[in-house]
Amino acid sequence: MRRLTLTAALTALMAMGSVPAFADGELNLYSSRHYDTDERLYSDFEEATGITINRVEAKAGALLARMQAEGRNSPADVLITVDVGNAWRAEQAGLLQSVSSETLDRRIQPHLRDAAGKWYGISQRARMIFFNKAGVTDPPRTYADLADPKYKGMICARSSGNIYMQSLLASIIAHHGPEKAQEWAAGFYANFARKPQGGDTDQLRGIVSGECMIAVANSYYFSRSLRKDIKSLSGETDKIGWVFPNQSTSGTHMNLSVAGIAANAPNRDNALKFLEYLTGESAQKYFSAGNDEYPVVSGVGLAPSVAALGLFRQDTLQLNALGENQKTAQKIYDRVGYE
Ligand code: FE
Repeated sequence: MRRLTLTAALTALMAMGSVPAFADGELNLYSSRHYDTDERLYSDFEEATGITINRVEAKAGALLARMQAEGRNSPADVLITVDVGNAWRAEQAGLLQSVSSETLDRRIQPHLRDAAGKWYGISQRARMIFFNKAGVTDPPRTYADLADPKYKGMICARSSGNIYMQSLLASIIAHHGPEKAQEWAAGFYANFARKPQGGDTDQLRGIVSGECMIAVANSYYFSRSLRKDIKSLSGETDKIGWVFPNQSTSGTHMNLSVAGIAANAPNRDNALKFLEYLTGESAQKYFSAGNDEYPVVSGVGLAPSVAALGLFRQDTLQLNALGENQKTAQKIYDRVGYE
């Protein structure tokens, strides 16, 4: 009887949308992925396993704060973040647990997962250089080139507080050390065409409008505009050229969408099933077809909008380095005045 009452109370709360469930056959997912198209990804899992996914979606910072506040009573089973820097923050805060799975280890290359199994890359994106074809005949070929004074007044990027910009600088710190990285950040920021503003799509729109000759953005924002209608961008993409940076050196910087199992996951087995599902072929195909990303599992076909960008060499830096250098990266940006 008590159990029934409890279940009824929980059901009522869940109907209010405030409390994810603890029951068997459930999975409580805390996610900061911000793509409507992920619905399919979740419903396919539900159909295949009979496990119901209860989702809490918010920005990474809010999800981490919530998990910390909930403590040992947190209903969170799986945390998904965009950018490995956010997964690293969660790991540092003790919010994730180690997982050991032969399936995950076989499918995901070592540099795309945490050595202790606390997070696993589930999809990748390239941080690329885009340019206005009519205005730029000799585009930057490397991240280092972005700091060349010959591009003064030409470059647009979003604010330095954004995790994508922090992870890019964190990778430069990992490759070249903090001093060189600071020189780079100063030169890069000195070349800006305008105050940092908007998201990656806005930088691409800036190329179309002519306000920006060069922009830094993640690959999927551009690929998406090839696949579907993005206001003030689709239909104008002929004006935009692109470069996969660092092809003759370290390879292009990749950031990840990442999943990990919550430290106090009440449905741990379901959580592991879900992680394995995310790295299976159908989910990996989906990341490319539904959200224009790159799979983490090799041999999975790319969507036409992604394949259109061409083949390139990826940086294979162990991505824990992005988290480890995150604080230094923000300090450097602050020091050079890049907001
Ligand atoms: Fe994004």
